[in-house]
Amino acid sequence: MNYEELPDIPKEFFNSETGSPFSNCLVCECDLKEEAVPYSIERAIRHYPEMELKSVVFEYAMCAKCMAQMESELSSETKMAIMKYFAENFNYQNRPQWLAHSGDKESEALAKPEFDINDWIARCSVKELPREELYEYTLCARCIGDKIIPEVAPYMISGQAQDDLIELFSNKSLGFLDGFTDKYFTGPPELKELFKGRPILV
Ligand SMILES: [Zn+2]
Repeated sequence: MNYEELPDIPKEFFNSETGSPFSNCLVCECDLKEEAVPYSIERAIRHYPEMELKSVVFEYAMCAKCMAQMESELSSETKMAIMKYFAENFNYQNRPQWLAHSGDKESEALAKPEFDINDWIARCSVKELPREELYEYTLCARCIGDKIIPEVAPYMISGQAQDDLIELFSNKSLGFLDGFTDKYFTGPPELKELFKGRPILV
């Protein structure tokens, strides 16, 4: 994977407070612009299709190191259940492909399709529901520096798929996530309640 060939992070994954890419890890606050550290972005959006209004429920970027630490806090039943759910329900077949130039002239002549974020997040990757009709959805991406890594992510998960996932969490894992939320999300209490019990998806 050649860093220079990766697409720039699309605005759908910008920090809504700054209108630019996330700069720091939510947990360790490391500088995400440092190319060497991949990180995940999750943005939960509440959408009011009738009014064409969107509001951010929560959003963050987290470095790979903190992500691995989070995962290790989840119970093994929870991890197994989530892996199984994704293996059985995530629509891998209909995912767009993104191939970097291999560098030789011949394959460049075949002109790879441009990266278009809408191809990746237009429908829920589990339920196939179109984004413009959803009241609640979550966007997930893996990034490095100011580039996005198009592999399994980026993807969009509907509120309906989130509800399925929450069911899979053991009490122990839910307790951990509640503690995590209390520590890192200081927004209005009603939004905090929404975040509680939410699985980290990337
Ligand atoms: Zn971190």
